Amino acid sequence: MSAARVDLDRTRELLARVGFEHVPEVVGELLGEAVREELSLAQVIERVCEEEAAFREERRIRTALKLSGLQGGKTLESFDFAFQRGVDRSQIELLATCEFVRRRENVLLLGPPGVGKTHLAMGLGIRAIQNGFSALFLPADQLIEQLRRDEAAGNRRMRRRKAMTVSVLVIDELGFQALDRRDAHLLFRVIAHRYERGTTIITSNVSIREWPKMLAGDEALATAILDRLLHHCHVVQIDGSSYRLRDLDRRLAGEAGGTQ
Ligand code: ADP
Ligand code: MG
Repeated sequence: MSAARVDLDRTRELLARVGFEHVPEVVGELLGEAVREELSLAQVIERVCEEEAAFREERRIRTALKLSGLQGGKTLESFDFAFQRGVDRSQIELLATCEFVRRRENVLLLGPPGVGKTHLAMGLGIRAIQNGFSALFLPADQLIEQLRRDEAAGNRRMRRRKAMTVSVLVIDELGFQALDRRDAHLLFRVIAHRYERGTTIITSNVSIREWPKMLAGDEALATAILDRLLHHCHVVQIDGSSYRLRDLDRRLAGEAGGTQ
């Protein structure tokens, strides 16, 4: 069957020329599999395309995670629900499907320090990227800092900001530092721009009641922000104990045990 024998080098070259990025490297193995498993031509074509698509998807996820500011380790899988009884696991599992991202709904994670708000927000952001969305994680003070710079440079720049256009924006630790009136107004612009356009996830240890105080004491502005934020929103209230202090407790318990 010499007529049927293909020149693999030429096949590789052609595959690369028409835009396959990964298949040229593995086409030999794929053809080997095809012979061993007696695949039909349709199955071979399917497998070749699957191989290329999987490679590209993996690369997209890797690149998106790197650019997003989301730390790899803070996944939903690594969250210990048994420790944090204050979290409604079924609510997080529902959010993990990313249906809320498809619907451009928001998530507000509230609770005292150390209960896992940032971890869960990151986990949801990572899950969104794995589901094909774009995501960006920003501590609130960094977001405000960017917006201040943009404001000075003109409106166009602000509208083009990734924080404005990304599918999922995670604003971490809102209220950790008090916002002055100008900062609060910049925050309003982000929330107003993203309203029904994208998903915003916010973590804060300031309860909603205290938001007017956090937002420079401006009741009207606080209402305008909360109105848009809460219109389509999942509120995750965590009233548990701090994971950070758990290790300390354990160490102290260990030391106490050791002296007996
Ligand atoms: P918060 O944002 O509520 O202050 P973090 O999410 O930053 O708390 O959590 C503090 C630290 O403890 C982080 O390193 C986080 O990964 C870890 N952590 C918190 N809760 C859990 C949990 N239930 N399971 C695993 N790690 C957790
Ligand atoms: Mg936090």
